[in-house]
Amino acid sequence: MTAAKQIDGKTRAADLTANITRETAALLKSHSIKPGLAVVIVGDDPASQVYVRNKKRAAESCGFYSAQHVLAESVSQPDVLKLIERLNADTAVHGILVQLPLPDHLDEQTITQAIIPTKDVDGFHFINIGKLMAGRISDAFVPCTPAGCMLLIEDELGTDLSGKTAVVIGRSNIVGKPIAALLLQANATVTITHSRTQDLAKVVSDADIVVAAVGRPGMVRADWIKRGAVVIDVGINRVEKIVDGKATTQLTGDVDYDEVCVVAGAITPVPGGVGPMTIAMLMANTLRSARMSAGLEG
Ligand code: NAD
Repeated sequence: MTAAKQIDGKTRAADLTANITRETAALLKSHSIKPGLAVVIVGDDPASQVYVRNKKRAAESCGFYSAQHVLAESVSQPDVLKLIERLNADTAVHGILVQLPLPDHLDEQTITQAIIPTKDVDGFHFINIGKLMAGRISDAFVPCTPAGCMLLIEDELGTDLSGKTAVVIGRSNIVGKPIAALLLQANATVTITHSRTQDLAKVVSDADIVVAAVGRPGMVRADWIKRGAVVIDVGINRVEKIVDGKATTQLTGDVDYDEVCVVAGAITPVPGGVGPMTIAMLMANTLRSARMSAGLEG
């Protein structure tokens, strides 16, 4: 019985961040430009606050200018749009992101589409989505989680996935669809599956690469996985557990890690896999935007 290689997203992300920090210092020295990241958060959802805090910490450690805009849960849509307009025009800000989800009275699509595409470091603007779908990846801001997954896959299998089959579980705009576009661009033969897919286990069992982005703890089982497959677990699920008689919450992925690691060739853990890569790619996109503002990148 062989265990899969555990893909260490934490170390990979730390290496990327160290590079970004060096490049940030070089940009400041050569062009007096400090990359700036503005994060807009509405309300006081505890999970969103943790994400925003982690992004702030990462931005500061890279040497970025980092600004948080904390808006009341009851903020009106025109007021959010006014803030985005201001950030679009602010030359100290190269990346803008609005932490999702937003309260129900705010229209997520109108708000994310108000961010100017050149500062859309989350890659949610239709212009960036269109470029990604058209294969113009070098010209687009690619959503951070799929971009991070792709780096991990390339580390295992190289940049040309010709002849490989990939199955993506989940078809969200944030993860499933963009990771499928990236895999396709890298020449993999890609299947996107979702909640209406029939006989999911059988479809997955043909794949050399499996990306699970569902939000269901431990859904992907060992008998779904082809021996030696690369398994990327995007899911972040908070599961109640009793430890030493006390109720605690634990983070767990969409893949049954203990089972699947016996069959897979390589697998990301949760936590410590895709999560850290997502933040590192956000920093990479922000640095890229700052370099673009200096005419250093197209
Ligand atoms: P989503 O809810 O928008 O999409 C979930 C997808 O899963 C849908 O397309 C749905 O069709 C599919 N699905 C649901 N039940 C299914 C089933 N039984 N069989 C097959 N497909 C099924 O979620 P999302 O935003 O794409 O996020 C997915 C997961 O990834 C969540 O756990 C989320 O927390 C996590 N996530 C992690 C990161 C990270 O940085 N690691 C980033 C974004 C999302």
